[in-house]
Amino acid sequence: MKRPAAAKPCDMSPAPGHDTTVAVLPEDMAGALLPWYDGHVRDLPWRRDVTPYRVWVSEIMLQQTRIEAAKGYFDRFMAALPTVEDLAAAGEETVLKLWEGLGYYSRARNLHKAAKVIVSQYSGQLPADVKALRALPGVGDYTAGAVASIAFGLPEPAVDGNVLRICARLTACPDSIGDAKVKTGFREALRAVYPTDRAGDFTSAVMELGETVCLPGTPDCAACPLAGTCAAHAQGRETDFPVMPEKRPRRSQPKTVFLLEHEGRAALSKRPDRGLLAGLWEFPNVDGALTEDEAMAQAAAWGCGPVSAAPCGEAVHIFTHLEWHMTGWRIQCAIPAERFTWTTAADRRHSYPVPAAFRAYRTQLE
Ligand code: SF4
Repeated sequence: MKRPAAAKPCDMSPAPGHDTTVAVLPEDMAGALLPWYDGHVRDLPWRRDVTPYRVWVSEIMLQQTRIEAAKGYFDRFMAALPTVEDLAAAGEETVLKLWEGLGYYSRARNLHKAAKVIVSQYSGQLPADVKALRALPGVGDYTAGAVASIAFGLPEPAVDGNVLRICARLTACPDSIGDAKVKTGFREALRAVYPTDRAGDFTSAVMELGETVCLPGTPDCAACPLAGTCAAHAQGRETDFPVMPEKRPRRSQPKTVFLLEHEGRAALSKRPDRGLLAGLWEFPNVDGALTEDEAMAQAAAWGCGPVSAAPCGEAVHIFTHLEWHMTGWRIQCAIPAERFTWTTAADRRHSYPVPAAFRAYRTQLE
């Protein structure tokens, strides 16, 4: 096998006559990576029976979700909505219910919107064109590249955090991967080394390397097919790269969650159509940590005729930039106030998507 040419250190200064920045990846990266991939490819649900629809759904699902967690969701989603037409025709609640627990629900809502566009504008076929894919709701540069290459064999890079880490290490890039210019530079550098005959496998191979070998804290360089051309490895500084952007501190928000019960049913309300957890169902809650008296007063103000209250524990849920610190009160009510939807356990299981943020309280009811 031809050895790849050595990687040069990352140069992120603008190239003469070009707007974008330049990074140089091993010239024959594909020649080293593809034979390794052929021997190490994992059997994953979305790699069986590959269709553009399955690739697209899996790529959306795998954003911010671990492979192991996504497998079961993917199989259930495909069993319920096996075609893009099925997804377009489904109710939003059905789609959100299939997504329940995965988080980042805007992914599911955009998937649903995009399916309608694909049916109305493309006769139910995902477009084999990166610009048209990029124009679909919820499809960014990464997903457009992944679908274009894996589903349609186009030499379009898909640059996510794993891929950025590999590129930053291969080139010992001193610049932050949070810098848009660095990302653009690596996308162009990858484009330059894409094989035209196995574009989809190359995309999958780079991802696979990032998920199984070039891991964030413990890269297994001894098992890496690119070790001979990796600048970070040559310097013994693998974990110095990538240079990460500074993290914004998370905001902490105290909340009180109400398990309001009336004759075996519990109150739910629907969140607004925009913003955090948009369109999902939740147990009534307010900002701040309420005492028992305050919680009873709130339930009375909602018109529920509260009879008794019992504490039902504290829970924390962490979003990307926000932490909910929740205090729970379980309150028996004499009146099923109309402002809420009063649900049985079966309703919550089958019909109402309730986000994982409320799991600690939901399990107490069930
Ligand atoms: S040699 Fe090590 S650091 Fe470099 S790409 Fe391979 S696993 Fe990552």
